[in-house]
Parts: sequence; structure tokens; C-alpha cells
Amino acid sequence: MIIGDIADGLTRQVERAGGMVSGAFFEPVIRLGVTGLSRAGKTVFITSLVANIMNRARMGGLRAAGDGSIRAAYLQPQPDDTLPRFDYETHLAALTGPTPHWPESTRAISELRLSLRVQPTGLIAGMRGARNVHLDIVDYPGEWLLDLGLMEKDYASWAEDTLARIADRPQAAEYLALLSTTDPDAKLDEPQAQKLAAAFTRYLVQAREDGYSDCTPGRFLLPGDLAGSPVLTFAPLPRGHDARGSLGREFARRFEAYKREVVKPFFRDHFARLDRQVVLVDALGAIHAGPRAVEDMRRAMGDILGAFRPGRNNFLSQILRGRRVERILFAATKADHLHHSQHARLTAIMEALLADARRRADYAGARTAAMSIAALRATTEDRVSHGGAELDVVRGVLLETGKRAAFHPGLLPEDPAHLLVPAREGAEGWLGEDYAIMRFAPQPMSLKPGEGPPHIRLDRAAEFLFGDRL
Ligand code: GDP
Repeated sequence: MIIGDIADGLTRQVERAGGMVSGAFFEPVIRLGVTGLSRAGKTVFITSLVANIMNRARMGGLRAAGDGSIRAAYLQPQPDDTLPRFDYETHLAALTGPTPHWPESTRAISELRLSLRVQPTGLIAGMRGARNVHLDIVDYPGEWLLDLGLMEKDYASWAEDTLARIADRPQAAEYLALLSTTDPDAKLDEPQAQKLAAAFTRYLVQAREDGYSDCTPGRFLLPGDLAGSPVLTFAPLPRGHDARGSLGREFARRFEAYKREVVKPFFRDHFARLDRQVVLVDALGAIHAGPRAVEDMRRAMGDILGAFRPGRNNFLSQILRGRRVERILFAATKADHLHHSQHARLTAIMEALLADARRRADYAGARTAAMSIAALRATTEDRVSHGGAELDVVRGVLLETGKRAAFHPGLLPEDPAHLLVPAREGAEGWLGEDYAIMRFAPQPMSLKPGEGPPHIRLDRAAEFLFGDRL
């Protein structure tokens, strides 16, 4: 064990003791992590969740909202001075303004504190007075979670593994061509280093777009304010002689710096402090993209769940010190693309994927659940006659053309295995059914007093995630 890790561990223990004291005697804090790969729906989820907790008329499924225990909800300055604040007001204005549009997506970590004034109702009302509960919502890219696997690797083994994996991927052709003219023992030349890093980053972006989830280093995909800095200017090279001043030696040094300065602070300062976690998954998008994307989603869910498994990783065990996330929700987003008659099938698919992820990650401990939700409902439901049959559809305004359309995305199977088995067996396409996807624009809203934006099961998601603490 290195000294830095012992010191980190001690700091965390002291912090935890502090956290528990303030939790028990003063005002409890729930730290809720919101993650998911890019475009999964994190920004829309947080914006709509906060708006719907401030205006609770559509939140009957969150017990404390339904029975009136939540007396007030208001935004407060967040506790972490160095984290960007989640830009709630701008995102809400985008969604609910006179010409609604989707907000800018998550690019980096951000935080928002929502404080609730809670007064229990019913029998225990007289016994317990009103108290404040703080919900600290931490939004971070799912891509960053996948970096956990790097902590136990050195540069040479990471580079070797990576080069073996990408050897026959067409997305990596440009990088591999550049590599064939690169000598790891040559003297470090910064423009050459930048060229390699840029070509490797282009590979990662393309691979991610084509559905691969083994795209590390994750910060190369969403660099935030580290773009162009030396910690992000390296790439995998074949093993060299590790000569002083060589390209290979400098890349190995930068890889260690990446672990130390980028990956470790994120896990130690943010990830290790979460109490509850929601992982958003664009399952309909993956089903539309085909069996390969579904199989990739299955693997990614296992990898993500593995990151929450205490004891899986030495580094993580040291910073967690027995602390663990208590509840994890995997939610399929954008369920408003489906008529409600199909929601149970989407949920069944998520449940099957979650059961598989738990098995593969050998996961025990936190309560987990799977759901299908829409943080912001952009459609209405209808039934139309089509070729002599009645068809359940959703209607909305298409994002691309601005035209109104009725949409039937294809019938999900009752048995999830009908999708998951072909995906696992590497099928090229789905048999029998075509799954379409369309992007709908958010609709103008006329909200009554007390109402938040329309959603599907956001209240149930909230109840699972933190309802027990209110
Ligand atoms: P992030 O990258 O995880 O922050 O993803 P966003 O929250 O920005 O969502 C990405 C895109 O997914 C949005 O621009 C919308 O097009 C779509 N989207 C997200 N949530 C919903 C939803 O509840 N319903 C619908 N119809 N589309 C959604």
C-alpha cells in the first residue's frame, strides 16, 4: 500500500464520522448520484425531478409528496465549493419556455442541493417535529465510471490489452496506421504525442458511437476543462525499451498521472460519498440499433454494477472503507416513445438485464431495482386503424421536421429472452420485428399551479431512491 492511500483512507474515515454525526443530530443529507452514458437522459432527468419535487402535484407515487409530508422544497447553495453547479434554471427554461427544446447534455460532473422541509403526517405526526432533509444530486458521465478498471493496471499492460482489443476494429484503422510509423523508443516529440492522442481519441469517439463500451480512458471522451492537457495526451504504444526521454516512457508517466490526478480524485471525492445511485439507460435506443448494441448494453450494465461492488478492487476498497451505496436503480429512459401497454415489457427487459448484471458482477448488498420511466413526457397516446387492425401509437412532434406524427415503434416481446438471446449469440439483426425510434420535441406546457412537467413514473423512481429517508 502506498502512503498516499493510507492518508486518503484516514481522511475518509474522519469525514464519515463527521457525516454520521451531522446526519444523526442535525440535518440528514442524501447524496444521490445520477449517471448513464452520454445521451441517456441525465440532464432531463435531474431537471424534471427537481421541478416535480418543487411542484408536487404529479408526484403521488413519492409517498412523502402524496401524503403531504413534504411541506416545502427549495434550492440551496451546494456544500461542495469547487464543483460546478447543475444549471437547473437554464435547463428548465429550455424545457418549459414558450418554444420548448431539449437542454444541453451532461459534459462533466455537477451538483445541486435541493432541501426539503418534512413534517410526518398521520399517527407519528405528533411525535416528530418538522425537519430539513438535504438532497445533494450529483450528475456525472457514466463514461468516467468505466475508468475504475485502469487503477489496477500499469501503462504497459493497459497498452497491450488495448492494442489487442482494437487490432481488428475498423474504427481504429487510422490510429493503427499512425502507430505503424511510430517508434516508442524515439525521443519525445510533443506534436507527435498530440497527433497520437488525437487519433486515439477519434477512435474512442467512433467506437463509442458504434456501441462499444470498453472505451477507456473515459475522460478522453468527455474531457471537460482538461482538454489538451498532458494528462490527456497519451495513447497505447507497443512495449519499448523504456529509455529515458522516450515517447514510450513519457506516455507511461502520463498514464500514471491520469490515474492519480483524474481517476482517483473523482472516485475518492465524489463516487465514494454517494448514498443512492440511479443509472439511466437508453434501452429503446439500443434495441433500435440492433442485437450488437443490446449485447453491449448488457455488458456495460455489468461493468457499471461492478464499480459499486465493494471488495472488487483494492483501490476502491481503500477509499470506500466499508461504506457503500444503499440503493441502485437502473431506469430505462424515454418510455414515452412507447404506448403504456408496452411499458411492462420494457421493464421486464431491464429486469432481465439487471439480474444478469448482478450475477456476472457477483453483486450482493445494495437494494437494486429496474424500471422504465420518462423524465419528460413528449407524447400523447392514441389508437389507430392500420391495415384492418387496431394499433396502439404515441403522437408527438418530430424533432427533425417539426411535423406531428403518430408512431408505433414495434412490439417488444413479452419474454425478454427473445431479444437477449439473439443479442448474446451475435445475431446481425432482429427476427420478425423491426424496432424504430424517433426523436420527439418537448411540447409546450400549460402547467396548473403546483404541477411540475409531465413525466412517467418519475415519482416511483424517486420513492425507490430516497422515499424511505423522508
Ligand atoms: P445526458 O447526455 O445523459 O445528459 O442526456 P440528456 O438528458 O441531454 O438527454 C439526451 C436526449 O435524449 C435529449 O436531448 C432528448 O432528445 C432525449 N430525452 C431525454 N429524456 C427524455 C424523455 O424523458 N423523453 C423523450 N421523449 N426524450 C428524452
